[in-house]
Amino acid sequence: MNKRPTCKLCLRPEKTCICKFIRPVENLVSLFILQHPQEVLEVKNTGRLLHLCLKNSQLCIGEDFGNIFFQEITSPDYYDILLYPDVAEEKSLGMCSPNPVDANHINNGDALDKSGKIRLWVLDATWRKSRKMLYLNPALQSMPRLNLQDCPSSIYKIRKAHSQNQLSTLEASCYALQKIEHGAVNYSPILEAFAAFVDQQQAFLPTSP
Ligand SMILES: [Zn+2]
Repeated sequence: MNKRPTCKLCLRPEKTCICKFIRPVENLVSLFILQHPQEVLEVKNTGRLLHLCLKNSQLCIGEDFGNIFFQEITSPDYYDILLYPDVAEEKSLGMCSPNPVDANHINNGDALDKSGKIRLWVLDATWRKSRKMLYLNPALQSMPRLNLQDCPSSIYKIRKAHSQNQLSTLEASCYALQKIEHGAVNYSPILEAFAAFVDQQQAFLPTSP
């Protein structure tokens, strides 16, 4: 039996605990993280670290969340937006076509006439799994969608530790919140801690020949 002591906060083995990278930040726009079960055990997983940093965030683990989940969670008090790239092939998969949101106009009142609070949803999963989560949850498909553009390169990419150009969940969420909140909150402490986190990950990797 594997009885390695586990940190109660970050749920990682104590040896690789990432709690020292937690930077508490009070985000204005709340964030809802839907984490794929496979991400939970992923060493590079940033969803939980992000959740531990952001005061106004929730994290749920699953793949198919079912209608009841969304009925209970979503309320007319919130304007729910999904952070997700534009995907042209979705229509061919029989999914609803997304309703794009322009982050620059989000606080001008046009999008928020009916409600005051914005809530951003993010899928913490690999690209393939995130598409499956979207496919399985029609409530997510019908959310207005925010597609991040002109974002800085991923720290993973800069560190050359990651083969994909994709931003991590942590980075994408911070940049999206920055955009929606028009820079009212400073996320650089989280992003800086994340850079240190990536360095630690690299230190654990076997050295290349
Ligand atoms: Zn920990």
